[in-house]
Amino acid sequence: MRLYLVNPDNPVVSLNKVHWNRLNKYRVWKPLGLLVVAGLTPPDWEVTLIDENLGHPDYGGLPKPDLVGVTAFTSQAPRAYEVAALYRAMGVPVVMGGIHATFRRDEALEHVDAVVTGEAESAWGQVLADARNHALRRVYEGGISDMDSIPPARHDLLRGRYYLGSVQTTRGCPLNCSFCSVTAFNGGTYRRRPVDDVIRELRLIREKVILFVDDNLIGTREDHLAYSKDLFRAMIQEGLTRPWICQATINFADDDELLELAARSGCQGVFIGFESPTVEGLMALGKKFNLLKGRDFRESVRRIQRHGICVVGSFIIGIDTDQRGIGETIARAAKNYGIDAANVLILTPLPGTKLYAEMEREGRIRSNDYPEDWKYYTLTYPVASYAHLTWAELVDEVDRFNGRFYSYAQILQRMLHLARKTHSPRTLSVVLVANLSYRSNHILERRVLGSRVRSTAQSHL
Ligand code: SF4
Repeated sequence: MRLYLVNPDNPVVSLNKVHWNRLNKYRVWKPLGLLVVAGLTPPDWEVTLIDENLGHPDYGGLPKPDLVGVTAFTSQAPRAYEVAALYRAMGVPVVMGGIHATFRRDEALEHVDAVVTGEAESAWGQVLADARNHALRRVYEGGISDMDSIPPARHDLLRGRYYLGSVQTTRGCPLNCSFCSVTAFNGGTYRRRPVDDVIRELRLIREKVILFVDDNLIGTREDHLAYSKDLFRAMIQEGLTRPWICQATINFADDDELLELAARSGCQGVFIGFESPTVEGLMALGKKFNLLKGRDFRESVRRIQRHGICVVGSFIIGIDTDQRGIGETIARAAKNYGIDAANVLILTPLPGTKLYAEMEREGRIRSNDYPEDWKYYTLTYPVASYAHLTWAELVDEVDRFNGRFYSYAQILQRMLHLARKTHSPRTLSVVLVANLSYRSNHILERRVLGSRVRSTAQSHL
């Protein structure tokens, strides 16, 4: 039996396409969800993984499979449906899983033969058995998986095509920020894989750098931090200290033992969601966590950097409290915090979030010609009505942020500042590549974004 697992690309996003920008190779990682599904698949199935971010294959020229599995974040959904249509026209059944199919199940069912909702571990075996018997059900409820049941991902697939390998140690987040669907999809309990399972899997990864795809690697409580420390200690003990990067909340800065172990186990950089430079903005997003303990962000960033770990900050623009000038305000805050790189995203009501429910109730979602419009839900396009900013103003604020934070003068200043603090050529090159990559992607995005916003700007406040 032959199975194709497809990670569809998004035609309007440059960030993930290796052939659009050679710096993207540092930002594209192996599609871990599909590698895990491949790991759940018994050996009598021949599995081929297709990641369209590496380029589109000639589907017609490939041997005909017995089953196709597609996954999709919301912005990939239109392309996922195109791939599904292509194979269904050949008489091949298509099953779709992932976050979009979970939260837009009925829509997905119009385009595919079966949908797996939630996490796939408990459902995939049945999907394959039913596919073999030509008796696929329409819906398989995956729910929340037992963390002991996650098999090692098939890291042997697509070997040699990526700079970044990927692994996951935890799922779920208790914070439930209004714009994020992690809590709705993976639950509000922070669940951890057995350390030994993660160590076994790390041994299988061959890529130069590893991304921990966890939405928040270290969690929020003491027992969560204790797990992370155990993991880092085990990595050090086993000599698995290849460079790695992760996402975490700002409490990453609060425990020097954790930082020291992270650095010794190979941590090179952390993405942190600062989200908004204002208290009102953080309250509006439901991210009060960042305000706990009267945090001094500059000091927190310094504590992380003292361990040789770079900090990339993420901010959201278009919050109901944001006014004209927010782009400059974020650029000033990012400079003041002393972060090494920053990313500004546009507030986007993703299905499954509290924000989506709220904006839908208020009739504020403007890009709603579904499924076609999902391709704009990349967090880089305006898709709703924003309280104080038109689409053109919003895009102008993003431009102002990027123009200021990623001017060559500011990049040079950051690099000189960093060079005074570290003699590590690796750290310097990581930060330089991150800065140039964000700068060049912004220029690319600008071209695509400009025409869409110009054509619709007048009608959206
Ligand atoms: S944004 Fe981060 S902290 Fe907030 S719910 Fe999502 S994963 Fe948790």
